[in-house]
Parts: sequence; structure tokens; C-alpha cells
Amino acid sequence: MDLKDHIRTVPDFPKPGILFYDISTLLAHPAAWRECVNQLKTIIAPMKPDLLIGIESRGFLPAAPLALELGVGFTMVRKKGKLPGECISHEYDLEYGSDIVQIQADAVKPGQKVVILDDLLATGGTLRAAIELSQKVGADVAGAACIIELLGLGGRDGLNAPFHSLISYE
Ligand code: IMP
Repeated sequence: MDLKDHIRTVPDFPKPGILFYDISTLLAHPAAWRECVNQLKTIIAPMKPDLLIGIESRGFLPAAPLALELGVGFTMVRKKGKLPGECISHEYDLEYGSDIVQIQADAVKPGQKVVILDDLLATGGTLRAAIELSQKVGADVAGAACIIELLGLGGRDGLNAPFHSLISYE
């Protein structure tokens, strides 16, 4: 099965001139979604993670079922102010300005091996921030994966962890 057949592209979203790669159609197709989770499992199981980390919000979608499949825990990296309790923050630069991501302070035990997931890699800024935040709380980041990679932006080059994607676009 070609997962690309189940990705919808939406022109001019969220802004004019942007082509948005939409995984809603993949999620809506049980056999394709099963195939996607299986492919991620094939890549990630050999890394033997103790914990999977999903990036808000579409990164939660592959990470949570995959954590169940692997029999490991799942935790969230979210934008500032969304997680309850004590959190650790990491500020990162955007094209214009900066943003802050957080993780709960007790989510990762020092030295735990984690793999980080998101739906899509573009510039890599979001995933890089999640990797740096995870390292800040003592995680051993064994790898990171996305369903979709946009190759033209060279996002994977700035990542301080092995990176995998299932499908890519120029
Ligand atoms: P980056 O930080 O430039 O790599 O952008 C990746 C982040 O933006 C991820 O969290 C994605 O969910 C989101 N994103 C950017 N472009 C798209 C898209 O075309 N489809 C879905 N998500 C996108």
C-alpha cells in the first residue's frame, strides 16, 4: 500500500501560497492507518525505546497507538501553558520571533531512551526544539520519526538525533 495515496494536499492553508499535507484522510482509512503505524513500528522497535514522545498536536496521533503496540509509555511535548503541574520549558527561534515548548517535569526519568514523533518535518525547527527539550530533562534521544518529510527545506540536517520518515515530497 502506498501511504501517499492517503495524504490529501490542501492549497493555500493555513496561508495563501502554502500547500498543506493533511493526514486526516490517512487517519480516516483504517487499513492505511494500520499500515502507517506498522511501518513506524518496524523503524522504531529496533531502537528499543523506554518511552515515546509526541509533539503537539498531530504527533500525538502516531505516538500514542505506537506506544501501546511497543508496550512503552507515551508523553507529550506541548506549547507553553497547556500541560498541568510542574513543567520544563525550552525556547526556540522561529522565522519571526520565538516560541516555547514544555514537557512535564516528571515525564522522563534521567537516562530513559526516548523516540520522538510528529506528523511532518518541514524546516525541522519544531522537532529540533522537542529533541533539545527532551535532552534537557535527561532523556537519551535514540531517534525521531515523522510520517511525512518535506525534503526541500533540509530540516533533517539540523537534528541532533537519527531521523526517519515514511514518505517524502520535494
Ligand atoms: P517545522 O517546524 O518547520 O519542521 O514544521 C513542522 C511542524 O509544523 C509540525 O509540527 C507539523 O505538524 C506542522 N506542519 C507544517 N507544515 C505542515 C503540513 O503541510 N501539514 C501538516 N503539518 C504541518
